[in-house]
Amino acid sequence: MKIVIAQFKHETNTFSPVPTPLTRFGGGGAPPEGEAVLAAYRGTGSAIGAFLDLAAQLGAQVVTPIAASAAPSAPCSDEVFDYVSGRICDAVAAGCDAVLLDLHGAMVSASHDDAEGELLRRLREVDPHVMVGVALDMHTNMSEAIARHANVVAGYQTYPHVDMYETGVRAAKPIMASLQGCPLPSIAWGQRPMLPHVMRQGSDDEPNKTLQDRCREMEADGILSATVFVGFPHADIEIAGLSAVVVDHDPTRARKACDELLELAWARRAEFVYQLEDLDVSLERARQLAETAPGQGPIVLLDHYDNCASGGTMDTTTVLGRIIAAGLPDVAAFAIYDPQAVQTMVKAGTGATVTLPLGGKLPMPSLGLAGSPLTVTGQVKKLVDGRFTNQGPMARGQRMNMGPTAVLQVGGVEIVVISEHVEPHDIACLEAVGIDPMSKRFLMLKSRVHWRAGLRKYARAIVECAGTGVCTSDYGSLQFHKVRRPIYPLDPL
Ligand SMILES: [Zn+2]
Repeated sequence: MKIVIAQFKHETNTFSPVPTPLTRFGGGGAPPEGEAVLAAYRGTGSAIGAFLDLAAQLGAQVVTPIAASAAPSAPCSDEVFDYVSGRICDAVAAGCDAVLLDLHGAMVSASHDDAEGELLRRLREVDPHVMVGVALDMHTNMSEAIARHANVVAGYQTYPHVDMYETGVRAAKPIMASLQGCPLPSIAWGQRPMLPHVMRQGSDDEPNKTLQDRCREMEADGILSATVFVGFPHADIEIAGLSAVVVDHDPTRARKACDELLELAWARRAEFVYQLEDLDVSLERARQLAETAPGQGPIVLLDHYDNCASGGTMDTTTVLGRIIAAGLPDVAAFAIYDPQAVQTMVKAGTGATVTLPLGGKLPMPSLGLAGSPLTVTGQVKKLVDGRFTNQGPMARGQRMNMGPTAVLQVGGVEIVVISEHVEPHDIACLEAVGIDPMSKRFLMLKSRVHWRAGLRKYARAIVECAGTGVCTSDYGSLQFHKVRRPIYPLDPL
């Protein structure tokens, strides 16, 4: 018995100016292929890690053509998409009994707004009958093509995504059962014209908590897999938005369950709308909370418009600049992406005082903004190679690379400056630069929801700060041309 297991993940922010070369799919180098996939992902808390475990339990022969996973950014080129898709399709063409794919679900390439649908279409050209199981991110913008070409689809039920492994199990188990003689299940899917704000999508918060709880209840009642995708709104493509998919042996029961999930989401659409707050108001609130909030630990300042795990440049300095100007004391900031600034600090050495233009290197044409660096003077406190291993619960055991990294002390603010995009969601990224969050009064994070996975437990209070960036929660600043209309809340449905 032979199973092809592969990964091809990218959340595409069509408003992002951050480029997406093939090396981004390998965390700064070529993505692993063949045996190197096993070394990179066996034993990790990822969907592909689950596929490898289940295949081993079944005693199946495993073929791993490629594991390509890029931090979110602009659409990838046709060359990159064709290369990775080609590796997967070639492996299937060589013959196999099943295919298990760890995909994102919101990938856009130069020629394909529904890149995962196109990958599966190509795979079906190669082999119309092979069994295909697909694990997807909760931010999938689900298409009819995915539902048509896959035999099983399962998506994350948590945000922060701490159930990647379990989702891999949900996607693979019905395929494994079919390999042992069970009939294949059927898929029901559907969508509603709504673009939930990412800042309102956390699965510990309402209304998504109720939606995801209902999916788990359905599975406890025997449905093979039930998923509500909250969708990824920073993608100006026709299919962007909320959808649901249910897999079951009984097509009528699958359809009924899928419709119930969609109706529930639609009825609560207003709760998915994020309320904006002026940055000055937020920072004043943070200053007061530092005096009055009970408990210990830092006040977390979330610079949520510039999250690299949603396609942000991670180099805008609006929030950081106001923090410095306001004179907030005892702050750690993670992080500003600026490889040039890191190199300047490497040359200067630890202990040196430097003046440099920080961040603001990438213009953001979708917002009509040029890059706007912040000139700072400070002391180089630390220089490290930027490699660490996630402690979890999100992507536990996965090796991470933020590239050459510096800590720059500017007044009361310790600024981490990195050379590869990494979102702070794991304590290991702070430990790698010697920062103990509990010893800080304020902790600025460029993140939206994922930081909660490994860092929320340190926060005394949370203040969301509207800065600048292509992950803006202000839909009014984005130009939507291709998304289907009408759609809530862009249109008052
Ligand atoms: Zn996601």
